[in-house]
Amino acid sequence: MREVPFGRPLIGDEERNAVEEVLRGYTLVHGPKAKEFESAFGRFIGTDQVTSVSSCTAGLHLSYFHLGIGNGDEVIVPAQTHTATAHAVELVGAKPIFVDAELSTGNIDIDAIPKAITEKTKAICVVHYLGMPVDMDRINALASEHGLKVIEDCALAVGTKYNGVHAGLLGDFGSFSFYPVKHMTTGEGGIISSKHETAIKLLNRQKAFGVDRTVAERSIPGVYDVTILGFNYRMSEIHAAIGVEQVKRLEFILQRRKENFFELLSGISDLEEFSTLQSTHGKFESSYYCFNLILKKSLAEKRLALVKFLNAQGIGTSNYYPRPVPHFSYYSLKYGYSEHSFPNAARISYDSVALPVGAHLDSGDMQYMVKMLKRACSEVLK
Ligand SMILES: *Cc1c(COP(=O)(O)O)cnc(C)c1O
Repeated sequence: MREVPFGRPLIGDEERNAVEEVLRGYTLVHGPKAKEFESAFGRFIGTDQVTSVSSCTAGLHLSYFHLGIGNGDEVIVPAQTHTATAHAVELVGAKPIFVDAELSTGNIDIDAIPKAITEKTKAICVVHYLGMPVDMDRINALASEHGLKVIEDCALAVGTKYNGVHAGLLGDFGSFSFYPVKHMTTGEGGIISSKHETAIKLLNRQKAFGVDRTVAERSIPGVYDVTILGFNYRMSEIHAAIGVEQVKRLEFILQRRKENFFELLSGISDLEEFSTLQSTHGKFESSYYCFNLILKKSLAEKRLALVKFLNAQGIGTSNYYPRPVPHFSYYSLKYGYSEHSFPNAARISYDSVALPVGAHLDSGDMQYMVKMLKRACSEVLK
């Protein structure tokens, strides 16, 4: 039987040797690797305004903290996302205001945003769902009309472009994830990007205790002042060393994902049991995070049977995301959301199966999935 894992990082001798080199040098933080990684990733997305952090969640949290968003404030977030998107808002004491998804892409329904805006709203957070860019011209127009900041959750958006501009440079701040199953990894890690030149300088201090000078800037060791509040959200040299090598693989990773995605799409396009979300068209360029197979409404109750069948054939599946965030107990109990709220996000969460198209897979894997999906149609979904 063929093994087709959902996610598997591409780790080679380059990453292993880079980590070993860091360990031989004994500088595990405050060294040259984090800077090298920041320049390499920044160059890839087209900016030098980035700072590395310990995760995407840390990056989002830090961005709201940096903007002074907190108690009594509201931030618009999509219902169809990872729980981290909303948690980051909760963590600064602000209230996430969930907006349903549009069914065609799974992205936030921009038409529904205006009625979610109040005098307490401070920012809109968008998620480029599965790497498909949100229509940022419309988001930015709404934001400037209402005086709001725009945060991009770019956890699935390495390679995502809108009008030729990379995600993370379209709003005020972007936050990327380097968790193992995302496009590239540092083990755990993230990066904040910004189009504001002075912001990164302050973020660099806010991610490191609010200390007023870096280790390199101290003429006498241990002499520094603390003038502002801050976290410890730095990325270690070990993580950054992995990242430097991963950036070198990005072109291959993105190309392979795209090829896999379209091979799978053309293989199953005549199957009436499924539909899928819109991908790249015109100025919208996806990063092809995964292939979301959406079951025909009448077959939705057979979803778990389909998952079991595919898993038994060695095909790894996932769910992006298991529930709309406001359906998770923490949010539904705190804010009183019913299970019937956010119907579009619910349709995508509850009636879809996420299939792998990662760069660890090739054409043979896609053909195998097509064959098994056809078999599933006659055996499981009949
Ligand atoms: C994975 C994910 C995150 C969390 O990223 P971490 O680096 O694990 O903190 C946040 N938002 C979205 C949309 C994600 O998919």
